[in-house]
Amino acid sequence: RELPGDPVSGRHVRQVHGACHSRVEPTPVRAPRLLAWAPEVAELLGLDATDVLDPRFAEVFGGNALLPGMEPYAACYGGHQFGNWAGQLGDGRAITLGEAINPQGQRWELQLKGAGPTPYSRMADGRAVLRSSIREFICSEAMHHLGVPTTRALCLVATGEQVVRDMFYDGHPRPEPGAVVCRVAPSFIRFGNFEIFASRGEEALLQQLIDFTIDRDFPELVEAEADPVVRRLRWFEEVCRRTAVLMAHWMRVGFVHGVMNTDNMSILGMTIDYGPYGWIDDFDPDWTPNTTDAGGRRYRFGHQPRIAQWNLWQLANAVYPVIQQVEPLERALAMYADVHEAENRRMTQQKLGLETWREGEGGEEGEDGALVAELHRILQAGEMDMTLFFRRLAELDVAQPDPVHVDELFGEVFYKEARRNEVAAAFQAWLARYAARLREEGVPAALRKARMDAVNPLYVPRNYLAQQAIDRAEQGDASGVVELLEVLRGPYAEQPGREAFAARRPDWARHKAGCSMLSCSS
Ligand code: AMP
Ligand code: MG
Ligand code: MG
Repeated sequence: RELPGDPVSGRHVRQVHGACHSRVEPTPVRAPRLLAWAPEVAELLGLDATDVLDPRFAEVFGGNALLPGMEPYAACYGGHQFGNWAGQLGDGRAITLGEAINPQGQRWELQLKGAGPTPYSRMADGRAVLRSSIREFICSEAMHHLGVPTTRALCLVATGEQVVRDMFYDGHPRPEPGAVVCRVAPSFIRFGNFEIFASRGEEALLQQLIDFTIDRDFPELVEAEADPVVRRLRWFEEVCRRTAVLMAHWMRVGFVHGVMNTDNMSILGMTIDYGPYGWIDDFDPDWTPNTTDAGGRRYRFGHQPRIAQWNLWQLANAVYPVIQQVEPLERALAMYADVHEAENRRMTQQKLGLETWREGEGGEEGEDGALVAELHRILQAGEMDMTLFFRRLAELDVAQPDPVHVDELFGEVFYKEARRNEVAAAFQAWLARYAARLREEGVPAALRKARMDAVNPLYVPRNYLAQQAIDRAEQGDASGVVELLEVLRGPYAEQPGREAFAARRPDWARHKAGCSMLSCSS
């Protein structure tokens, strides 16, 4: 069903009923050119360097050619955006090329992002700018190497065409180079794919999509449960569980998604849709990189676990018609909170290098809980760099945390001298408590450091690092993207000569567009 078109672009806003997806082909681009690719993802697909560097590769992954067997389509989904039902959204600039079965028998869906308009593009152009494509490419792979569930990125292809975007921060639209990223995942189905059918009362289709998803992506549930309704419940519980684990990972590494709308929530519990995301530099639970969200700051760092639960509530509402029982769905949502708390605690314990966890007298805010709460207070009040702090903490001499040693060790962690002075006494006291706690456990220093360094990354795609690679790429030099990816392939081990990639955010990047503020059009 077509609604009136946009008078300027002539494009139509189309409502797609009774279907999960629409067949659509990528729109060819002027001059596709491969800028970067991820060797691990190529390998997953059974491709090697010869395949990737063949000129036909850029043709296919820029959207100019299809390989035999590819049947491209765009998916129909809806979603809650910033807390409100937004109706039909759909793959407006993503086109799935098909699925590939690799030599190990694994099935991977290949999806181009920025490949031109689809029936779901509404008034927009279906394209992506180079800067946002670089950000998606880099961060997808960084997340994987950090051990966080995520969609992957095979390659980044420049289109040789210009794209015009509103630049929210300077108010002037300016043409920018365009690009296409090929994303790879077992599935790109989102909460919103189920919500759209529920919202329209298309229950047969809803049930079909749920059972298809279970059969294809949750085969263990098919084995374990014969009753279809109970199986759907088990599935919903599993989605809650995976999402809870994912949120704990985001908090562990300091990732802020920025647009946790239900259309950006993967049914597989993976990080999906890298838009105006950001990485925590100075520890601040209230920070969001998304300027579109600046007022409500709904999607700020510390709020993410609760937002994920809110999103799961929307999914519960959507799947209710084919489950028809309220209480088990509510129990699953309560279980989400329990799993998240347990995972978050487990990861926090690892980050601190604690062998055991002491509940203490006070229940939730028991001994170690209180230690963590006080640490978070100090990190925030002291404006301390989260990533550097945990790496330095692993080097603390727990026998002797005297002030001189502490000053030397944590010098780089503070952004401002004044803040450092403000928290100095509290920080010293906290370190003394922490050191005493570790002395009691008696884990050898080298072992504790090895364990902590395995969960506290040294290299994360800090916003300013991505922006530096983007600035160079926009000038025609993509080597910064390649080098950044190279570093981020090994986020936990020190890489000699690459100290610059581990540095805290420089002063110039504090309020710079792209470095700390991004809009949804990113
Ligand atoms: P996002 O906020 O990136 O998750 O996008 C929300 C919706 O807008 C999705 O349906 C996207 O496919 C669509 N969208 C975003 N950018 C574009 C674009 N340039 N062209 C067409 N659709 C877009
Ligand atoms: Mg999206
Ligand atoms: Mg997006």
